[in-house]
Amino acid sequence: MVHRRDALRASKIMQERALANPIIAFQWQSMVEEILGDEGHEVKGVRLKNVKTEARTEMACDGVFIAIGHRPNTALFAGRLHMDERGYIVTEDGTKTSVPGVFACGDVQDHVYRQAVTAAGSGCMAAMDAERFLEAEGG
Ligand SMILES: Cc1cc2nc3c(=O)[nH]c(=O)nc-3n(C[C@H](O)[C@H](O)[C@H](O)COP(=O)(O)OP(=O)(O)OC[C@H]3O[C@@H](n4cnc5c(N)ncnc54)[C@H](O)[C@@H]3O)c2cc1C
Repeated sequence: MVHRRDALRASKIMQERALANPIIAFQWQSMVEEILGDEGHEVKGVRLKNVKTEARTEMACDGVFIAIGHRPNTALFAGRLHMDERGYIVTEDGTKTSVPGVFACGDVQDHVYRQAVTAAGSGCMAAMDAERFLEAEGG
């Protein structure tokens, strides 16, 4: 795991699990500068840059999984639903969006908690809001 800082922000218990896992090695204060391998074919390693010393090293690996930050998967609704500057769907009065009859829940509209249980809870809210909307419409 390559990480830019010298510590993780994840919950303590998740950090402890990762740090204690013998098949995970940590490269602190480093970033991936280049993925090495045959163009368009096989990954053979990565070139790392230490963000403090700027020293470059190469590390052999068979694959790369990128997880940096969080961007809501809302491009599909661009121009259709009102969103904030970060791309989160804006909801008000429960799960209502800017389009009547369209309700949003979960990570696409929550930049604060972004947890499974809060997403599930807001999913229930959206289902109830949708049901009430349809009832009011006589559906
Ligand atoms: C690495 C990681 C670790 C996490 N750990 C925890 C944790 O320990 N505890 C916790 O509570 N939460 C955790 N979370 C957060 C949790 O996973 C999310 O908050 C939760 O899954 C959000 O639920 P959601 O239904 O809003 O979105 P998602 O679970 O992302 O579901 C969205 C669904 O929509 C589908 N989809 C996307 N686009 C389309 C489309 N165009 N058409 C049809 N379907 C589409 C996707 O395939 C996906 O199935 C973690 C998240 C990550 C990434």
